[in-house]
Amino acid sequence: MKLTKPIVLALMLAVCFACENKELTTNELQSSKRIEQKFIKIDVNFEEGANALRNGKTKNNNDDPVLDMMTKINAAIAGQGIILEKVEILGADEAGRTVFFDNRGSKQTNFDWVPNDPRNNGFGAAVPYWIDDTQLGTSSGMTQQATFDAMVNSMHTWEAVSCSDGLEIPFLGTSGFDIGLVQYLEGFGGSDLVIVGAIAHAGILPPDFFETVLGPGAGTGTIGVTFTFSYGTDIDGNGKGDTALSEIYINDNFNFQDAPNDDLFDGNGVIDFETIVLHEVGHGLSQAHFGTAFRDGGQGNLHFSPAALMNAGYTVGRRDISGTDEAGYCSNWGTWPNN
Ligand SMILES: [Zn+2]
Repeated sequence: MKLTKPIVLALMLAVCFACENKELTTNELQSSKRIEQKFIKIDVNFEEGANALRNGKTKNNNDDPVLDMMTKINAAIAGQGIILEKVEILGADEAGRTVFFDNRGSKQTNFDWVPNDPRNNGFGAAVPYWIDDTQLGTSSGMTQQATFDAMVNSMHTWEAVSCSDGLEIPFLGTSGFDIGLVQYLEGFGGSDLVIVGAIAHAGILPPDFFETVLGPGAGTGTIGVTFTFSYGTDIDGNGKGDTALSEIYINDNFNFQDAPNDDLFDGNGVIDFETIVLHEVGHGLSQAHFGTAFRDGGQGNLHFSPAALMNAGYTVGRRDISGTDEAGYCSNWGTWPNN
């Protein structure tokens, strides 16, 4: 005992010292806190679908690679209580799109969070979020802190819309490990640990991820994407499927900057990062794409009518919620949690 005690103490000191160092080097996000929530583990049946996904095989059961991917993912997580229902793609110089998983009897194209859903980790009427702090920062030079701040700001922007006083969007914390169920299923890291009832900022990922998951051309043609999983039920009987969780990914392929007044057509190729996150969070808060895409007769640039944050493509920096964005949001959240 007398001999081992100092050794144990020395070991503890060594371990603690290592911990302190690790904490110091990774704790760059001053305002962040580590997550303290219960995770739900999603068991994956690799035989069914994930093997095909991980091996990069595309069997082309469907004409659409996104639908093909969704079919495989849902086969892989069958019986786990959640279904990948919707993939909302934000396009780069092309209109993005929304793909629904419709390989089942009751086709539903509307999904929403359920206030006080007993399945949702005790979040009550709040729709909280968490952030993957292992995949922040961009190749274009934005720091981890800058991208983290943009994510937090985006949540505050939506929460601050005056019609939605009943909605709280609290910050659960940073993950401290690589999160993202779709990422995990596709063999790009991530995790099978999810938090139901919450929006996950699952990371800024390389173009490869988008090319693999969303199909040929998506590595350069997709700016961001939101995946919506439902419980496959409508327990509140509002005609909308019950959202279980949503995952947001941003494609690192672009020249993202902190540029709120950016205009895509000014020729510098800059995209305002926070606008992109704000758009994706809109999906996380059940807002659909809005507006019709067209090209102008001059340069042939992509435009939308009406111009809105929830257009399926990026044209300008837009960090305020107004016009059709506000109307759409308020029609859903104005009566929350009593809808
Ligand atoms: Zn979108």
